[in-house]
Order: sequence, then C-alpha cells, then structure tokens
Amino acid sequence: MKPHFEVVVVGGGITGLTFAALLAESQREASLGITLLDAGARPQIPAGDEISLRVSAISSGSARLLESVGAWQLISNSRLSPYECMRVWDEDGTPDGAAALRFDAAEFAVPQLGFIVENVLLQDALLRQLDTTNVELQFASPIRSLRQSGRQYKVELEGGVCRTADLVVGADGSRSFVRRAAAIETRKWPYDQTAFVTHLRPEFEHQATAWQRFLRSGPLGILPLADGRVSVVWSTTPELAKRALDASDEALGTMLADASDRVLGELAAAGPRGAFALGAQHARRYVLPGIALIGDAAHAIHPLAGQGANLGLQDAAELASVLHTALQTGLHPGDEPVLRRYERARKGANATMLHFMTGLNRLFATDSRLVGELRSFGMRIFNRSGPIRERAVKVALGVR
Ligand SMILES: Cc1cc2nc3c(=O)[nH]c(=O)nc-3n(C[C@H](O)[C@H](O)[C@H](O)COP(=O)(O)OP(=O)(O)OC[C@H]3O[C@@H](n4cnc5c(N)ncnc54)[C@H](O)[C@@H]3O)c2cc1C
Repeated sequence: MKPHFEVVVVGGGITGLTFAALLAESQREASLGITLLDAGARPQIPAGDEISLRVSAISSGSARLLESVGAWQLISNSRLSPYECMRVWDEDGTPDGAAALRFDAAEFAVPQLGFIVENVLLQDALLRQLDTTNVELQFASPIRSLRQSGRQYKVELEGGVCRTADLVVGADGSRSFVRRAAAIETRKWPYDQTAFVTHLRPEFEHQATAWQRFLRSGPLGILPLADGRVSVVWSTTPELAKRALDASDEALGTMLADASDRVLGELAAAGPRGAFALGAQHARRYVLPGIALIGDAAHAIHPLAGQGANLGLQDAAELASVLHTALQTGLHPGDEPVLRRYERARKGANATMLHFMTGLNRLFATDSRLVGELRSFGMRIFNRSGPIRERAVKVALGVR
C-alpha cells in the first residue's frame, strides 16, 4: 500500500490555486490529501459586467497551463482580451520611431501574444475546477503559527484548528507568513516607485495592443480590455501616484493622456483607482525540509513586463511535476533533495527575470544623455536582430 501524505497549500491566489489543481490532477490515483487555505473569503466575480481593477497579462504558455487543468475553458470569452501586438517606446521617442520596439503575433505565426484577464476570473475558474476534485478548500482561515514536529509541520489556524502537513507550500504572496515563520531570508531592492492602476476610455481604439511608454519617472503600461477600455499601470513617483489618486476625473484623464503622449488620443477616467508600492524581492532559499515557496512568496518583480503571475504559474507547474515524479517512486514529498530539484529548476530563471526587469527600469529612468543615446542605439539593434527578438518574444509568450 502506498503511504499517505498530507500537503497544505497556504494561499489561494492564482499561484496556489494552480498548484493545487495541477497536483490534484496528477495524483488522482495516489493517497495524497491536499488542503488549500486562504486568509480571505472565497473570491466572487462581481455582479454585472464591470471589469475588476486587478488584471494580469497572461502569456499564451500560461493560458495553455491553465487549460491543462480545465480552468481556462471556464472563463467566458467575452471577458478575455487577447492582445496581438506590443509597442514599447521611450519618453524621447515615438511609438513609430526607429528606436521603438514592436512585436506582432503575425510575425511569429501565433494568433495572439497573450491575454489580459481579470485575476478574479482566473481564481473563480480554478476554484470551480477544484470543486470537482478532492482538494479541501478553506477560506477565511489565516495561519497563526507553523511548528515543526519531527518530519511534519503543525499548521495552526486562527480559532485554534490545527492541520498536520508532510509538506507546506507557501503561496501566500509577497508578505508570506510561511516564509517568515520558516525564517527564510529575503533580499529586497526598493524601487521608490508606486504603481497607480485604473481603467480609462481612450479616444482611439486600442487595436488589441499592449502599449508601454518608458518615462524617466517609470514605465506607463496601457493594456487593452475586452470592452474597449484600457487598463493602466503607471509606475511612477509616490508623489505623482498620490496626485493621480486624488485628482478629479478630468484632471486624471489629462495627466495620463500627457504621460502616454496621446498615443490613444484623449483618455477619460472610467473605473476605480488603486495604488501599490513597488519593490523587488527574492527569497534566498525556496525550500527547506517540508517547506516550499512558490509565486510572489518566493519572488516579487517589477510589473513593467507583466511577468509576475506568469513566473508564479511556472513555479506551480515545476513543483507539481517534481512532486508527481517523487510520489510515483515512493519518495516523501517533503524530502529536501526532492524539493531542491524544484528550487534548482526555478530560482535561476526567476532571478534572471527579476534582475532584467530591475535593470530595464533603471536604464530608462536615467537623465544621462549618453545612456539615453546608447539605449536608443541598443533598441535599434534589437529591432534588427532576428534571434534576440525571437528570444524576447518566446519569453513574452511563455514558451521555453
Ligand atoms: C500593479 C501590478 C500589476 C501587475 N500586473 C501583472 C501582469 O500584467 N501580469 C502578471 O503576470 N503579473 C502582474 N503582476 C504581478 C501579479 O499580480 C503577482 O505576481 C501575482 O498575482 C502573485 O500571485 P500569488 O498567487 O503568488 O500571490 P497573491 O496574489 O498575493 O496571493 C496570495 C494569497 O495568499 C493569501 N494569504 C496571505 N497571507 C496569508 C496567511 N497568513 N494565511 C492564509 N492565506 C494567506 C492571500 O489572501 C492571497 O489570496 C502585477 C502586480 C502589480 C503590483
């Protein structure tokens, strides 16, 4: 008889839910108990058609992963916004200039580069899929303590309820309780930038294009939404973000039309507003015996290329695959050598993306004329180099 193991996943964001769904899918035959707990209430899609504020750019590779667990199919097509083109340019240039970057899905023979989708839709689809498995879901259950007991962990929830786990997976976001309770150190790189987010109605059609203008104060991302509006992520100084939060609708439209160089004409305020302090961080270790960190609990990166959720999904896929192989061969899922395989596969790749994004943000934020000229020269070379362009697009598409 196969030994029975218990896995407790802490965190029901996109990463934790995808991991639980992948593990459940691969373990239908095995004797494995999976519990997923989250501090908050079960996410609900708001009534009506209103597109919620938190959206993510999901690469085609991530969409395929979500399809493999039966979740992508549950998202209504009318709420998905495929984007076919990306345009990146700098404050001193124009979106059509020689130093601007342009990627088209057609150039790479794919129907789209990715999809803009509301996080709550992804969570809802994953949860509906998990409802059909034997994963136990527990909401409104923040963990209060994590104590090692031999080869297992005791996970104590608010209210005193205790769960025993052979493996605890920390998918509890950038302020991870699991990471802190396991005393895993984190390196941090503050950006002194705040991301201001809102939805706007543009004067011109968004053309199913993800627009990105690099300003000295930080990048402005303009993402196409299914109803013709755009979702804006403006990484800027904390002062400007505060001004945008407090501005009248009219003043906000003007601020963002100016920041976007009116690439889509005038912009009208058309949605709620939010702001998040930005910073990069990377856990020094992803695993300890009986513990594994995935998603933002392990790494948080600048949102400028919309890769945070995609990296978390790749962590989820790798950890589920490593555990599947280990369980098939009768290994304990909390064994450090088993978990280290996951860490080796993901930590380097995540570090590369994190430092690349931090470097890119700095490269565009400089006032130096020389750096500006070199940057513009580099972008022209990039445009002409087939292999480098292809590699960049593969990363954006989520293809390894
Ligand atoms: C402004 C902005 C824009 C972004 N845009 C994009 C984008 O376009 N594309 C993209 O790929 N990424 C984007 N990202 C990044 C992306 O949102 C995150 O990387 C991703 O959501 C992280 O998912 P996660 O599941 O790892 O963590 P989270 O989404 O943070 O989920 C963590 C979960 O853990 C739960 N939790 C926390 N503490 C406890 C506890 N003690 N006990 C139990 N449960 C707990 C929380 O309730 C939460 O549900 C953006 C980020 C920002 C800030």
